[in-house]
Amino acid sequence: MSIAVILDTSALLRAYRYIMSDEIYYLLGTDRVFFYMPPSVIDEVKSQRFMVSFLSLKPKITVMEPSSQAVSVVKKEAEKMGYLGDLSDVDIDVVALAVDLTHRYESAIVMTSDMAIQNICRVLNIDVLSVGKKIKYVARRMKKCLNCGMTYSASLDKCPNCASNNYRILVRRVK
Ligand SMILES: [Zn+2]
Repeated sequence: MSIAVILDTSALLRAYRYIMSDEIYYLLGTDRVFFYMPPSVIDEVKSQRFMVSFLSLKPKITVMEPSSQAVSVVKKEAEKMGYLGDLSDVDIDVVALAVDLTHRYESAIVMTSDMAIQNICRVLNIDVLSVGKKIKYVARRMKKCLNCGMTYSASLDKCPNCASNNYRILVRRVK
């Protein structure tokens, strides 16, 4: 299973650690995850915090322009549903890129905290990985003791049951 994850500004800022670490792979259940971003997102944001995050993630992200065809599909649908006023041109690019990439990957997911983007994605049948206030999925890191089998908090150094520090990291996906 290969998945394209399309990032908007909010995703880059809020889900930085997911993208940077392996957590995203556990979250999505595959390590064949490819990150995309339209160039307009980068043009839009000039904040230092964004640029620092972007530059360190740059090797993982493919910057790609959505097709004009996909842009008009998204605009048309947004207008029909009355969402067009809530969406910026950059938002439309993000969703349009997802429309393009659904044809190339088994799944294309938009990662965002923006409600207007989430709404239009729902209409277009595009999956959303919601980040920020309304988190759809949470990955929780736990340790599983290899000596006695107990599952315990990842913040503990050793097993509270048998004091062994021989463990395996588990990531639980909580909906
Ligand atoms: Zn133990």
